[in-house]
Amino acid sequence: MNVKKFKKGVKSKLSKNFASIEFDCSCKKCTETLIDLDHVIKLQKLRDDLGSSIKINSGYRCPEHNANIGGAKQSQHVLGTATDIVVKDMAPDEVADSCEYFKGLGRYDSFTHIDSRDRISKARWDNRSKKEHLPKGPSNEEIDKMLQDIEDDLLK
Ligand SMILES: [Zn+2]
Repeated sequence: MNVKKFKKGVKSKLSKNFASIEFDCSCKKCTETLIDLDHVIKLQKLRDDLGSSIKINSGYRCPEHNANIGGAKQSQHVLGTATDIVVKDMAPDEVADSCEYFKGLGRYDSFTHIDSRDRISKARWDNRSKKEHLPKGPSNEEIDKMLQDIEDDLLK
């Protein structure tokens, strides 16, 4: 985890395709945005792999806003490690299938939740109205290996 604070409403470039403003909390009160830059690296990898633009529906949530919308108390959004995304011309299920290297992966009808939680164990959940195929996905060890490979690639 490499969480940094950014000024809300200001467009700071984070990677080739992402800027801090896209992660801003949607409330009208808070003034700073927490973003895990390690999560952004993986998000950029996803963007490169898919070759399609990614819209962030929800990134950072300040504790107050998270409580107001009934978010989970331990929400990764509050820590700055989570994004709910929609990929242009791709169904959320298809997107989720490409996101197995994220520690946290939640399937929803209209978006995909991905997070880079600082935990040993992965988290997988299905909030779709029709729960169809839910792939078993990689093991914790396999995810760690994928993350290590991503890191190694960056150092090349
Ligand atoms: Zn807020």
